Amino acid sequence: MITSTKSEALFAEALRYIPGGVNSPVRAFRAVGGQPFFVNKAKGAHIFDVDGNELIDYVGTWGPAILGHAHPKIIQAVKNAAEQGTSFGIPNPLEVEMARLVCASVPGLEKVRMCNSGTEACMSAIRLARGFARRDKIIKFDGCYHGHADSLLVKAGSGALTFGHPDSAGVPAAFTQHTIVVPFNEPEAVRAAFAANPQQIAGIIVEPVPGNAGLYLPKPGYLEFLRDVTSADGALLIFDEVMTGFRLALGGAQGRFGIQPDLSCFGKIIGGGLPVGAFGGRAEIMDLLAPLGPVYQAGTLSGNPLAMAAGITAIKELSATHAYAALEESGAALETGMKNAAKSAKIPVQFNRIGSMFCAYFTDQPVHNLADAMKSDRARFTKFFHGMLREGVYIAPSQFEAGFISTAHTVADIEKTVEAAAKVMKAL
Ligand SMILES: *Cc1c(COP(=O)(O)O)cnc(C)c1O
Repeated sequence: MITSTKSEALFAEALRYIPGGVNSPVRAFRAVGGQPFFVNKAKGAHIFDVDGNELIDYVGTWGPAILGHAHPKIIQAVKNAAEQGTSFGIPNPLEVEMARLVCASVPGLEKVRMCNSGTEACMSAIRLARGFARRDKIIKFDGCYHGHADSLLVKAGSGALTFGHPDSAGVPAAFTQHTIVVPFNEPEAVRAAFAANPQQIAGIIVEPVPGNAGLYLPKPGYLEFLRDVTSADGALLIFDEVMTGFRLALGGAQGRFGIQPDLSCFGKIIGGGLPVGAFGGRAEIMDLLAPLGPVYQAGTLSGNPLAMAAGITAIKELSATHAYAALEESGAALETGMKNAAKSAKIPVQFNRIGSMFCAYFTDQPVHNLADAMKSDRARFTKFFHGMLREGVYIAPSQFEAGFISTAHTVADIEKTVEAAAKVMKAL
């Protein structure tokens, strides 16, 4: 970044009217220090800030921009839809097309309901799981994020097998007492939770590939284990694919790993950059939702025509092209380059990657869960982040976020990124 005077002025004003100057906390750069820059344009793999800086972007609006920013087909679809009206609040044909596409893309999804964010999708899926199983308890993993609904805002805490501890002020302990938090990739903790709460657990909610504490992969057999342990107890397996859905494959992580959860949550990519969430599963479960069944869930703007048009176009574009093969190639090139850069700079880095998702942890130990991730040298990450920014590369302003590659990232973009990393790492 060369100059930032306009961003600084905007942030000063934002601080007067918006808490922390931002509408979502991580945007405030608190984890890395400094101030956020303001973007008023993005195209392909690049973002442009108000001071005229151009950056190669690996945040991709936190995942949705898998086809790059401002994809011409998505822009056109949104324009066309807007001409017909921005919201109807009564069924519109695009909702049907979207539901058909999502069900056709994800194995095991018989019915789907659209909502407006990933948070809504997870909150509703949990309610539905509880309504279906007629049980109250939920298992989640520390380091997994499922949006900011009360009962899911729990990370860890000793005694987690019995009582969860709220992660946020304003969440009564009573609201999280049915949330059991266990470490990811460790079968024993899950077995112990089931043993301590037999026939009481409504379901397990999990990011099949956790991407909200950086990025780590399920160990071989772990997702299969979660499938088996839930089935054996009559609990539901809920895959939160808000990040991985349509990112790791058209069928998401479940398609990629060949595991069929009972319920799945989506968001991000299926909105094509507009606010969308969705949750779906077997008809037998989904039909418990109002108006058919007793589990209430609703939304004034759910199935919004602009969001449906954008999402449909994104999904069609992903299915019609060799997007995932191209993303794998770019991901592999970035991985090789980053690992070489770290090696020649003699910096210990764990570069975790699957397809177009990645994270570089500054530690010499492998990272399989939150406890491992916490061992990363965050002071080093902060230096790395600011160094990359100075070189014109924007990665997420926190060690605990995944990076995203889009189909718009070119070989030249990846090369420039690797060169920048090599230079920055030598100075760490
Ligand atoms: C982003 C995310 C959410 C929350 O989605 P919002 O649209 O931000 O509410 C939930 N789960 C996962 C896995 C996510 O990555």
